[in-house]
Amino acid sequence: MSIKSIQVYVDKYSMKYLFFISSFFFTQFCLASAKVCVEGSELKVYSNLIFYGSKSQNSGAACAKEIHKMFNTSSTTINVGGKDLKVKFEVSYQIESEEAAIASININKRVENNYIRIEDKAENQEWGRSNHILGGNCGFYAFVDKLGSSTTCAHEFAHGLGLRHYNERSDNGYGHNGDLRGKGAPGIMAARGFIVDKKYQYDINASPGQAGGTINPKTRVVRSEDIKDLNLETLNFDDDGCAPLGTVTGFGYESDGDVTTGNNWYVFDALDYINDSLLGNLSEPIYCR
Ligand SMILES: [Zn+2]
Repeated sequence: MSIKSIQVYVDKYSMKYLFFISSFFFTQFCLASAKVCVEGSELKVYSNLIFYGSKSQNSGAACAKEIHKMFNTSSTTINVGGKDLKVKFEVSYQIESEEAAIASININKRVENNYIRIEDKAENQEWGRSNHILGGNCGFYAFVDKLGSSTTCAHEFAHGLGLRHYNERSDNGYGHNGDLRGKGAPGIMAARGFIVDKKYQYDINASPGQAGGTINPKTRVVRSEDIKDLNLETLNFDDDGCAPLGTVTGFGYESDGDVTTGNNWYVFDALDYINDSLLGNLSEPIYCR
């Protein structure tokens, strides 16, 4: 065998090997908004939240659990293709290093993977606090928003699924004027400043609209109508009964809130990712129950 043919053989072999490993890891571990699948009498909404950043260990798990719980509280049925299906959210999460998360974002093609940085605040962004790209898979959540016990995670996640605040929609529906008095517990897409019945205010004795007289976000609930607003029945389901909801926007955040795409060399990110997988440096999704 000549040197050249050995080289060709090695190249061929290593490419095959790389292809094998990458396809294995990308399907097994590279699980972004959500993937929606018809499964028996249920319509399952799969979302995997990949947390990174200095406060991800402190509140990532609680954040994912809040989302899972709040989105499964209402019993909602959607008709898809003539069949009534019960909507069930399947939320999982991973806590990753910044390096692994950014590398994964650059090679991710899965709409159910959401990349969320958790820091105290986004110092370099005018939004400063928690924010999730509308209908996208990237977010920056602020630890100061009491993630996991304030409904902030469920609210931001709903933005990721494509929902806008009630008063930012083009219709004259529920909450369009920022006033939910007489409507019971406020829906999850009510923003700060909404007027609500007194028991849902920061201060139940305050006058509506005055200091303390606006919505305490903690009192928000995911209503059946909020899930219906996702228009899951209009998605394009493939032969396996699954459809993407949202898009793969593909970027990360620096600790101060600046947007980053890491390095732009797809192949290096892919190799880094495979290497981290082989070394066992990557976490696996933990399903909320
Ligand atoms: Zn919002």
